[in-house]
Amino acid sequence: MSDLVMPDMLRQSSIARFDNCSYSLLLDLLSPRMQRGNMAARGALFHRWVAQALTQMRAEGWTSYPVEMGLELLLQVLAQTDVPDDDVVHLPMRELRWLRVLVTRWCEGGEFAAARILAIEEPLYMKLKVPDGRGGTYERVIKGTPDVLVADPPNGIIIPDWKSGWASPSREVEKAGGGYEDNGAIEKDQRLSDQGYAQQIIYGALVLANLPAVDRVTLREAYIMFGEYREATVHRWELERILDILGAIVAQIDLAIAGGSTSDRWIPTAGVHCGICPSPRQCPIKDWEGIPATLDEAKLLAREWMVAGTVRKDRLPLVKGWVEANGPIEIDHGKGRREVGWVANSTGNGRRFALYEPKDAPESPFDARMEAVLRDR
Ligand code: SF4
Repeated sequence: MSDLVMPDMLRQSSIARFDNCSYSLLLDLLSPRMQRGNMAARGALFHRWVAQALTQMRAEGWTSYPVEMGLELLLQVLAQTDVPDDDVVHLPMRELRWLRVLVTRWCEGGEFAAARILAIEEPLYMKLKVPDGRGGTYERVIKGTPDVLVADPPNGIIIPDWKSGWASPSREVEKAGGGYEDNGAIEKDQRLSDQGYAQQIIYGALVLANLPAVDRVTLREAYIMFGEYREATVHRWELERILDILGAIVAQIDLAIAGGSTSDRWIPTAGVHCGICPSPRQCPIKDWEGIPATLDEAKLLAREWMVAGTVRKDRLPLVKGWVEANGPIEIDHGKGRREVGWVANSTGNGRRFALYEPKDAPESPFDARMEAVLRDR
């Protein structure tokens, strides 16, 4: 008997959270009202502001929102008078200036085709077939609430996702490939953020399932602080594979919840998403991974990172000197045997000092064929 309550439906945010780090979903289930830091509060308030601004723009037929009006509206949003008590968020006064910056940048960020808005913060639901592990399936309802749905004629939908944080957009956008749109392969789209990848899959499935006339769904991440955006598209012909992926993830979530809070299926997985963890203090690997839960811990981490850079720089001539005199240095590495030394550049011109896999190294435990099969499943 599980000590966790199986939710009637799974929210997009829970699936995305589990996808990043399954343990963080457990923390979320155990403390659903835990405020997730100032960044999350700022994001929540800013998204409420955008929703209200867009509602007014659509009603009035405007394509932009004046800055002065935007700042007026912000005061109303900050008061949170129209918000149920359990949705109220706390943002310290020192953070308010960043909300003013976000609102100002949004207002000055160019025109928005408000007339094309189809829905603002309207929840979407769908029934998903989930494998039961015995060759059959069961049904599970999933729910997502995109900020806005914007028509993208003739048969597309754009879902803008306003990023109110400091994380800069990926630079990978310059490269060809790596997304649904470019090669049709189901693999991580480097152009979106990590959260964006899961969002793209879940919102794509929800929109395609609910709107039969739509053929493609584009998630557009707008980085307000940088004035840039990244986007990726899913098409109707990919829906079956997307539903397979979603079904597999939801099956894992259900099994973890059914196993209770002590199940080994809750696996902490550190990464950038630790910044939005509901409770990093309770993370079982916090201390060995050094995941910061307070500003002081973050400062210590930043200092170590800076020191590591200095150590690397200082040691480089010494390591190079050894290699020049004695040849490459063999070292143990998580992915098998590695050496530090000189390697020829792939262009054929010159060489560089690097960590590399020697040609006679035994085969790595990483098996590309197995990886491809797992990814496919
Ligand atoms: S701190 Fe990171 S690794 Fe730990 S539970 Fe939270 S998201 Fe997972």
